Amino acid sequence: MDKIQVSGIAFWANHGVLESEQQQGQRFIVDASFSLDTSHCGDVIERTVHYGEFAQDIVTFCQGKTYRLIETLVNELATHLLCAYPLIQELSLTLHKPNAPIPLHFSDVSITVNRGRTVCYLAIGSNLGDRECYLNSVCEAIETDPQMKLLAQSTYLETKPYGITDQPDFLNGVMKVETIYTPRQLLAFCQTLESRAGRKKTRHWGERTLDVDILLYGNQVMETKELTIPHPQMHLRSFVLRPLHEIAPNLRPPILGKTVSELLQALRDGEEMPHLPKEEMQ
Ligand code: ADP
Ligand code: MG
Repeated sequence: MDKIQVSGIAFWANHGVLESEQQQGQRFIVDASFSLDTSHCGDVIERTVHYGEFAQDIVTFCQGKTYRLIETLVNELATHLLCAYPLIQELSLTLHKPNAPIPLHFSDVSITVNRGRTVCYLAIGSNLGDRECYLNSVCEAIETDPQMKLLAQSTYLETKPYGITDQPDFLNGVMKVETIYTPRQLLAFCQTLESRAGRKKTRHWGERTLDVDILLYGNQVMETKELTIPHPQMHLRSFVLRPLHEIAPNLRPPILGKTVSELLQALRDGEEMPHLPKEEMQ
């Protein structure tokens, strides 16, 4: 992908934990670079990112509000820029605070964040109340969130409960989205939707108004206390693989070594499946 860089954007702003920093302000400098496809700009400025407007936007944003932490400022700036410039695929921002109040000789303090757009797959399920309405609420939330874009959606499938069988049947689906959220932010987004649907903590794998799981986040592989990606059970669940197969049969999830089509066939054939590190989620 092509890269445009704007470096040394210097301005005065009022960020910092100290009262004096917020009152008097100090000099900040931003280095920004972003990737986009410039191969079909055709010498038309609307088909690329106007770097002058982009740089001005950075200054206006940073002067518009006071943040205590440069971490928060640069994260929110990255979100703002990715929402404002849909042509940008990847964005790297370094914020320098060379006059930070440290009583030592030092040359600079800076923070760098790298953000971008990632294609993800979400699995949704419901087996309590108006199931279709709960699943539709996920669509609506994605469509109204500027940090999410709905790319494709499966039909909703009626499925038998998995694991714990003395509960009502589920309605399940899968969505393909593009997001600028980090994996942790995407999990928080999913959990907000679950609590908005009034989901109550019941038994593990028990009944729920709404379950929203992250199946895949680009090609990322991760395992933390809160989040395992790819979803550790996805290849074992036909209620995930069937709707996923509708929208992405040739997708090859990392680690699993098979396409979705092949995974579904293996599950139907009762083949021995590899168990991913974390078999059960709490
Ligand atoms: P399940 O979806 O297996 O029925 P829950 O919805 O109750 O389980 O999720 C329990 C926990 O699983 C969540 O609090 C979350 O931190 C964790 N988790 C780990 N990986 C994922 C993932 N890929 N998607 C969603 N939740 C995950
Ligand atoms: Mg879940």
